[in-house]
Amino acid sequence: MSHVLILGTGGTIAGTASDPNRQWAYRAAQLSVEQLVAAVPELAHVPLATKQVAQVDSKDMGWITWQALGHAIEEAMADEAVSAIVVTHGTDTLEETACLLHALHDGRKPIVLTAAMRPASAPDADGPANLAHAVKVAKAAAQRGEGGVVAALAGRVWSARDVRKAHSHAIDAFDGGGAEPLDDLTSWPSPEARGWRVLLETPFPPRVELITSHADADGWLLDAALAHVHASGQALAGLVVACTGHGTVHEKLAQAMQRARDAGVAVWRSSRTARGGVQPRDGDAWPAAGHWTPAQARVRLVLELISARP
Ligand code: ASP
Repeated sequence: MSHVLILGTGGTIAGTASDPNRQWAYRAAQLSVEQLVAAVPELAHVPLATKQVAQVDSKDMGWITWQALGHAIEEAMADEAVSAIVVTHGTDTLEETACLLHALHDGRKPIVLTAAMRPASAPDADGPANLAHAVKVAKAAAQRGEGGVVAALAGRVWSARDVRKAHSHAIDAFDGGGAEPLDDLTSWPSPEARGWRVLLETPFPPRVELITSHADADGWLLDAALAHVHASGQALAGLVVACTGHGTVHEKLAQAMQRARDAGVAVWRSSRTARGGVQPRDGDAWPAAGHWTPAQARVRLVLELISARP
C-alpha cells in the first residue's frame, strides 16, 4: 500500500519552550518528525513514513540543507511506495524553499510544505492541525494525479509560486502576495521541472546578495561588496535589489548597480512592497523579477547563474 512520506527539517512546528508561561521564548527544531506525527491523533491510522532530513531553525536555512532535502525528495520520487510528500519547515524561509522546489521538481508527485507559528509545547499549538491538513491535502492531491508544490498553512493552501510570510507573528501569517489560495477545484500550477542536478551537483552556489533601495541609499554597501572578495574566494556574482514601488531605485544606488553590472554582476530588480512585484516592461534597463519576493528572486538568480555556468 502506498504512503505519504513526511520529511522533517525543523522549525517552530518542532519547537519547544522550557517555561510554559513564556511560550514565546522557545527553541525551534527540538522534536523529531516522528514525535510531531505521534502528537496528531488524526494521523494514527494513516499510512505514513517519516524521515528527519535536517533539524534547523529555518532562519538558518541554506544550500547544504536544501541539498539534503533534494536528495530525500529525489529518492522518494523513485520509490513506488511513496504517493506524496509533506515537508515540515520553519515559517521564516518557507517561501524560499517553496520557490526552490517549484523550480526543480518534475511534478511526478505532490509536495506539500507545512509549518507552525507556535511551538509544539504551546497549549494552543497550531502545528498538529497544520500537519493533519497537509497530509490530507497531499493524499487527496496524489489521488487526483496532482504533482506540483503547495504550502498548507492555517487551513489554506497556497501555490509554491505565490506563498510568502506576510505577518511576523499572527497565527495566519501567510498570503499569496495578491494571489488567492487554491481551492479544491483549482488545479495546482505545474512546477518548472529544471531537475535536481542544479542543486545536487553544485557544491558552492554563486554568491548572490540582496540589498534594498531606500531614502539615502547611495550604493555604499554595494560598492563595498564589489571591492571585497568573500573568504570563500568568491566574488559577487549576482545581486537582487528590493526596489521601491514598481521597480524604482535611488539614483545613487542605480549608479552603483551600473558599476556592478560593468564588473560582470547580474543585477535583478524585485519590489520591497508586499504585493505586485516588478512586472517586466519593454525597454527595461534592468531585468525584473516578476511576482517573486526579493528573497525568492535571490534563489532564482542563483539557479540562473548555475545554469549559465559553462
Ligand atoms: N524561526 C522559526 C523558523 O523559521 C520560525 C517558525 O518556524 O515559525 O524555523
